[in-house]
Amino acid sequence: MKVMVTELCEASAPRDFEFVLSMTPLELQGTDFVPVSPPHIRLRLRREGSKIEVGAAVRARMHSPCARCLADSITNLNVAVTDQWPLCGTNDETADFLASPFIEDAGRIVNLTEYGSALLVEHLPVRVLCSGNCRGLCPTCGINRNEGECTCGNSELDPRLAVLGRLLHDKGGVRDGTTEKKNI
Ligand SMILES: [Zn+2]
Ligand SMILES: [Zn+2]
Repeated sequence: MKVMVTELCEASAPRDFEFVLSMTPLELQGTDFVPVSPPHIRLRLRREGSKIEVGAAVRARMHSPCARCLADSITNLNVAVTDQWPLCGTNDETADFLASPFIEDAGRIVNLTEYGSALLVEHLPVRVLCSGNCRGLCPTCGINRNEGECTCGNSELDPRLAVLGRLLHDKGGVRDGTTEKKNI
């Protein structure tokens, strides 16, 4: 969704926009996010002097693997943001702002979809956990410690290594003679 800058700067009443982002799964700092349904964006744009006052609401529901145990976890995003776009002036601030990635056509068009996508990405968590006290996977045998105990006696772990450990076990590639039962 796009809007002309002149349209925003000449509007005498607030303009409301509502749309969904057609979004493919995205990866952010190593975490995959898969939308349950298309993320929803609502914008209220109101001219105030040389600026556009922005009220934005972002709503999204995303699947991600837990950073510790890889279990499917849902992130519910529901944020309200206020912002200002110095779009309607002729000063340096306006000139700088026109370089924003969501401004197109030499400063004549605002790409609202781009702006909404950036807001969404900005508010996604850096690290998704299935729960604050998730105990993760055992790096040796790969057991999900939220579901059972093992006797490996290891502490903190990288879940990707744990998966590798489990694969090795399954292939009989681990020769340390441990006999803990797999609880998968
Ligand atoms: Zn977890
Ligand atoms: Zn273990």
